[in-house]
Amino acid sequence: MNYIPYGRQDINQQDIDSVVEVLKSDFLTQGPAVPKFEALVSQYCNVAYSLAVNSATSALHIACLALGIGPGDHVWTTPITFVASANCALYCGASIDFVDIDAKTFNMSVIELEKKLVLAEASGKLPKVVIPVHLSGQSCDMEAIASLAKRYGFFVIEDASHAIGGRYKDEPIGNCRYSDITVFSFHPVKIITTAEGGLATTNNAALAKKMNLFRSHGITRDLDEMTHAPDGPWYYQQIELGYNYRMTELQAALGVSQMQRLDEFVAKRHEIAARYNQLLASVDVLVPWQHPDTYSGLHLYIVQVKPESGFSHLEVFQKLREANIGVNLHYIPVYLQPYYQQLNFSKGYCPAAEAYYANAISLPMYTNLTEQQQEYVVEKLSSILH
Ligand SMILES: *Cc1c(COP(=O)(O)O)cnc(C)c1O
Repeated sequence: MNYIPYGRQDINQQDIDSVVEVLKSDFLTQGPAVPKFEALVSQYCNVAYSLAVNSATSALHIACLALGIGPGDHVWTTPITFVASANCALYCGASIDFVDIDAKTFNMSVIELEKKLVLAEASGKLPKVVIPVHLSGQSCDMEAIASLAKRYGFFVIEDASHAIGGRYKDEPIGNCRYSDITVFSFHPVKIITTAEGGLATTNNAALAKKMNLFRSHGITRDLDEMTHAPDGPWYYQQIELGYNYRMTELQAALGVSQMQRLDEFVAKRHEIAARYNQLLASVDVLVPWQHPDTYSGLHLYIVQVKPESGFSHLEVFQKLREANIGVNLHYIPVYLQPYYQQLNFSKGYCPAAEAYYANAISLPMYTNLTEQQQEYVVEKLSSILH
């Protein structure tokens, strides 16, 4: 069997033609494709503003900047996420902390969040922003998080890098009903791709305006934002310290084309998950549990080796890799990374996250995974565990 990765893009002729068309056009950057892509995402998510950028990492950074995060501020996220969800706080000079996960969904635990807020209030160290991450594409308990946000006065950025096309309480993830800003990633392993790319959504005009500035050098051509009348027709003003986080026209055109198949992609991922659930019923692993309030984008399909199977996680992992199956582990608890260890987080800090890390395996999950490949993955897993 050829190598089976854990995730990969799904590119068709229309995607290719869309990019080629841009290459032959007048604009490779700062043209009509980016606003077109943004409008499509806004419409799909039923949200007022979309700001496309060159990665979700950049989107998280400008989201924090727009919310005014800086030195002295505290930002909280989950340890079971990609490092970017935590790094964005450090980019802004803020401090970062981690809220342990729920053992069933692997998302940030609302119970742990509330406990931590009570303590933080007593010591005067409440977070300014909390960044829940929709692991695998399954929404966090956003209603509960939003009600804590109201009570304790923090902002919420949803890291929905895994979750475009997913729903929570029958509404699209990204509509920001329970958050200030939502961030998506379009890396090739995610649900839709722009090669590299990300996007922030919000319903708040002021936040959208700020993110728009931060993604492009802090420069404005809007007369209302300038400190004085333009010197001439060439004039622009830099009014913030921004970055060049712009998405290119090539990326946006690919995004526009991919958006047309988003629902199809997510439906296909659900078919694959249902098949895994069925095939794995007699294998010693726990299949992903889905909360009834959620419809996951299913970026990942994470199983856990049952401790009573008698097999070590490492052993199972190594044997699957030897069988040419690109299983992966999402994620190493962020605070166990050497960079975070020097910030004084010790082992044992989030016990549920560490227990998860000891058993989790992401099986191959992408739209073009064939039934034959899926059967091969399950056969291997089953024979290893017997
Ligand atoms: C992929 C990912 C990111 C970063 O996305 P990029 O577009 O690669 O910058 C951030 N958070 C999570 C949870 C991710 O999975």
